[in-house]
Amino acid sequence: MTRVGIVGAEAAKFSVEGQWLARCAIREVLEAEHASLVVSGHCHLGGIDIWAIEEAEALGIPTQEYPPKRLSWELGYKPRNLQIVRASDLVVSITVQRLPEGFKSRWVFPQGCYHCKTPPEHHVKSGGCWTLKQAARAGRRTRLIVVPVPPGETPDTASEPGSEHTQAALL
Ligand SMILES: [Zn+2]
Repeated sequence: MTRVGIVGAEAAKFSVEGQWLARCAIREVLEAEHASLVVSGHCHLGGIDIWAIEEAEALGIPTQEYPPKRLSWELGYKPRNLQIVRASDLVVSITVQRLPEGFKSRWVFPQGCYHCKTPPEHHVKSGGCWTLKQAARAGRRTRLIVVPVPPGETPDTASEPGSEHTQAALL
C-alpha cells in the first residue's frame, strides 16, 4: 500500500495523444503500487494534477488535494509542493519530452532541465522536477515519467477544466 503523490505539467503542454499516454501512465503506477491514496496539487491550469485525481477516482482510490494557497512560488506553490512530498511515500512527476506545436511560453530553457541536468531533448523543465528533488532529499521514492509529443500535434484542451486559463496561457 503506497501513498502516491503525482505532480506534473499543465494541460496545455500535452497533445491529445499525450494526455492519453499520461493517463495510462498514471493508471499503471497506481495499479503497480497498489496505491492507498493519491496526493495531488489541484493546479488551476488543469493537466496532470486533475487527471491524477480523475484516474484515482475511476479506480476507487481515495484522494487528497493540496491546492496552492496563493498563486505565488514562495507563498503558494513551494509550500504546497513540500506538503505533497510529506504526504507521499512515492512521488511521481509526469512531464513532456517537448512542448506541443503552438505552445508559447515566457520561459524557454534551451539547455534542458536544470533540475535533472538531462540533455535538452530528454524532457521539458518542469516544476515537478523540483518536487522530485525535494522528495528524494526527504527519503521518498521518486519516479520521472516523460511523455513524448508526436510531431505536428497541437494542444487541444478545450474540454479541460480551467481551459480559459489555459487559452490565456497560450496567447
Ligand atoms: Zn527535469
